[in-house]
Amino acid sequence: MVYDAVIIGAGVTGGMLARELMKYRLAVCICEKENDVACGASKANSGIVHGGYDPVPGTLKARLNAAGVEKLFETAKLLHVPVKRCGSLVCAFSEAEATRINELYERGLKNGISGISVITGAEARKAEPNLSPEVCAALSVENSGIVCPYELTIAAVGNAMDNGAELKLNFEAEKITEKGGVFTVISKNGESVKARYLINCAGGYSDKIAELLDDKFFEIIPRAGEYMLLDKTEGSRVSRTIFRVPTKEGKGVLVSPTVDGNLLTGPTSAAVASAESRETTPEGLDTVARLASNSVPGIDFRGVITSFTGVRASEKGGDFIIEPSKRVKGLLHVAAIDSPGLTCCVAIAEYAAEQLKNMGLRMEKNPEFNPRRENPHAFREMTDSAKNEYIKIHPEYGRIVCRCETVSEGEIRDAVRRNPKTFDIDGIKRRTRAGMGRCQGGFCAPYVMKILSEENGIPMEKVTKNGGNSYMVSEREGE
Ligand SMILES: Cc1cc2nc3c(=O)[nH]c(=O)nc-3n(C[C@H](O)[C@H](O)[C@H](O)COP(=O)(O)OP(=O)(O)OC[C@H]3O[C@@H](n4cnc5c(N)ncnc54)[C@H](O)[C@@H]3O)c2cc1C
Repeated sequence: MVYDAVIIGAGVTGGMLARELMKYRLAVCICEKENDVACGASKANSGIVHGGYDPVPGTLKARLNAAGVEKLFETAKLLHVPVKRCGSLVCAFSEAEATRINELYERGLKNGISGISVITGAEARKAEPNLSPEVCAALSVENSGIVCPYELTIAAVGNAMDNGAELKLNFEAEKITEKGGVFTVISKNGESVKARYLINCAGGYSDKIAELLDDKFFEIIPRAGEYMLLDKTEGSRVSRTIFRVPTKEGKGVLVSPTVDGNLLTGPTSAAVASAESRETTPEGLDTVARLASNSVPGIDFRGVITSFTGVRASEKGGDFIIEPSKRVKGLLHVAAIDSPGLTCCVAIAEYAAEQLKNMGLRMEKNPEFNPRRENPHAFREMTDSAKNEYIKIHPEYGRIVCRCETVSEGEIRDAVRRNPKTFDIDGIKRRTRAGMGRCQGGFCAPYVMKILSEENGIPMEKVTKNGGNSYMVSEREGE
């Protein structure tokens, strides 16, 4: 079959665009090189809904950020993705930084955002009592918030699939040809898909995809950000996201509550060789601890439950690249989507769909499009008595698999079955939080493996942590 559109990359950009395209009568396929969706930058980032004061006025980033905040909050609610409008403070620690705060305020006004004000250090500490005594001024941003980035991606792809989109996992686009207005995308495994329109949403590899079509007019410069995530015991240190004044390298090390009640500190910003870079370094984590403690003294870093790295897909121009190829008809690049790409994802999807329409894609409304997704957390959100009644009918919800995060067998089985289906331990973790707690899966991983094995009809030895050769066990004892 020839699809109307093939999207390369199942991050939040590709996922949200697929969902947007399903509002029209179109045949859409998403190709993803990993064993699951949300495995690139959309998995490992700060999860902040940025207010829009930072992008340079007049850029696409500034425009889509200003438009994107409300769209993101609305869409997350429709998709039952955890989101909270908690606000943020950008803190100045010197007179020079206080001047920058005033500049950011002016920039925010130019970008057309509301709910921003400059406050004194004392006012900032009144709002956030654990803030450093050294903070002398702050930009208060009421409209910003926090969201779970991987759940948003999973939900966007899932909703697109529920509305008819297809997803091909373990499909690494390696060769692309174009003949007679039809693209053929060939994977590393020799599979192929055909489409009339091709959309490059490959994140850190979007320049490589452009290169496959001899259309590389931009270059991705990967920049890594290291984080430390702390236990829920530290989760109430701050109620808003605490930023430092941004620099050329990015928005700096923040301290933020997460939608799940943890405390997040990070990221650093360092050039790395590859978008695949995942390691954390002693120097990076030291920098995170030092700067986070400088903003919010007293954070107990003994509460760190995990550290991780995310890689930004930056480009030297500094702006998003969302434009049709000048060379290859039918090819749309949605590239260089670094921060605030998560905040802008719905606005980016709408803008990209508009570009496709201008490129000639016939877009006839799909009256059956369902913008909502069933709540995957319905059981978690029930009252105790409602849970008890539910368990009488569905006993698998009464068997707790992950004790740290209180996740039941029923919720895990549901997560395996729902679009986009998952086949590995990390996929379960991102969908249900089983393994996300203090023990990081030390106790529940064997139970999760058993469920994955039963649901997907594969032997335990074939269950992986995150696809490829990441097997959890090597063989059965005695065999
Ligand atoms: C450290 C850090 C902090 C950030 N913080 C924030 C924040 O707080 N707020 C905010 O708004 N934004 C933030 N961002 C930016 C945000 O994370 C990104 O803009 C967003 O996740 C980009 O999504 P994407 O889908 O474009 O890219 P990705 O999520 O990287 O997805 C690209 C996908 O393409 C796939 N792919 C690549 N090559 C191929 C191929 N050949 N064939 C098939 N598939 C392929 C990859 O496997 C990947 O799944 C942050 C980013 C980082 C790294």
